[in-house]
Amino acid sequence: MKALVYTGTEKLEYKNFNDPNIVNNESIIKVSASGICGSDMHAYHGKDERRIPPLILGHEVSGIIEKGLNKGKKVVLNPLITCGNCDYCKSGSEHLCNKRVLLGMNRPVERQGGFAELVLVPNKNIYELPEGLEMKKAPIAEPTAVSLHAVELGEKNIKKSFNDCKALVIGGGAIGLLCALILEKIKNCGEVYLSEPNQKRLEVCSKNLKSTSTTPKDPSLKENDFDLVFDTVGLEVTRNSAIKHIKPGGTIVHIGLSQPSGIFDFRKATLQEITFIGTYCYTNKDFENTLNLLSKNKIGDLNWIEFKNLSSGAEAFKEIHDGTCSAPKIILIP
Ligand SMILES: [Zn+2]
Ligand SMILES: [Zn+2]
Repeated sequence: MKALVYTGTEKLEYKNFNDPNIVNNESIIKVSASGICGSDMHAYHGKDERRIPPLILGHEVSGIIEKGLNKGKKVVLNPLITCGNCDYCKSGSEHLCNKRVLLGMNRPVERQGGFAELVLVPNKNIYELPEGLEMKKAPIAEPTAVSLHAVELGEKNIKKSFNDCKALVIGGGAIGLLCALILEKIKNCGEVYLSEPNQKRLEVCSKNLKSTSTTPKDPSLKENDFDLVFDTVGLEVTRNSAIKHIKPGGTIVHIGLSQPSGIFDFRKATLQEITFIGTYCYTNKDFENTLNLLSKNKIGDLNWIEFKNLSSGAEAFKEIHDGTCSAPKIILIP
C-alpha cells in the first residue's frame, strides 16, 4: 500500500509500505480520511518518545472495512486501544488504562496509524459511521470527543448553571474551536470568549462562532473575570493567562500540553481556591456521545475543515509547522 511515512525529524515520505496482516478480533480498514492532530505535529518535531521513526502517524480515521467482520461497512475509528480488564476499563474510565495505546504509535507496542491506504484496528474500536455525518469529515469525531470530555469535566466542577457562566477558551486550533462550539451550541454557556494570536486562525474561528473571538492581548479580556478557562495550548504563557483570567473559585481545564513545565501562580491558585483539571483524552462513552452529536449536526457544518491529498501530506505538515495554515483542522484523503 501507499502511506505517508514519518522517517525522521520534520521528514515525511509518501511511499510504499507493507500492507497490514489481519489478526484475530481485528479488521483491516480501507482509509477514507485521516486528520492531522497536534500530537502528530509533536512527533514530527521529534519530541515524542512513543512515536519513533519509521512510523505511519495518524489516529483520527474513517473508512470502509476491507477485511474482517462486516466487510464493506462504513466506519469511524476510536483510536484509543485499551486492555478491557483493569479497574479503569471496567468502570468506564478506559482513557486512564495504563496499558492504553493509540493508533500511530510504536512504543511500547507498534500500532501503525491512519496516514495510509489501509490500517489494522481491533474490532472493539470500530464504530458504524452515523447517518448525517460525512465520511470525509468523520475523523473530527476524535478531537470532538477530547473536547466534549474536557467541557464536561469543567461542567462537573462549576458551582452554578452553564447559563450563568462566563468561559474563556485559550487557543483557536481544533480543540479550542470545538470546545467553544460545544460550550455555545450544546451547553448554552452564558458568555464564551476565544483567544488566539494567529490572525488567520482567528478569522476562521470568528466566522464559525457566535462567541467573541479575539487576540490574547485584547483589554476586554479582564483579570479575575471567568468562571471557567480552557487552556487548549498548554504553554507556560497560556497557563499564566488562564490563572490570570480565572475568577476566585473558578475552574481551569488544561487540555494542551505543548510545554509540560514552567512558572505558575500557585499563590492565586491556593488563596483563591482555583480548581485545576488536567485532561487530554476521552472515554468510550464520550466517543459514542460525540458520534450522536455529530450525526445531528449539533456543532454546525464543520466547514472550517480543510482537505488535502495524502500524497501531499508532507506539505500539509510543513504548512502547519510554518504557521501559514489557517484551518484549525486538516484532513488527508488517500
Ligand atoms: Zn487527535
Ligand atoms: Zn485497562
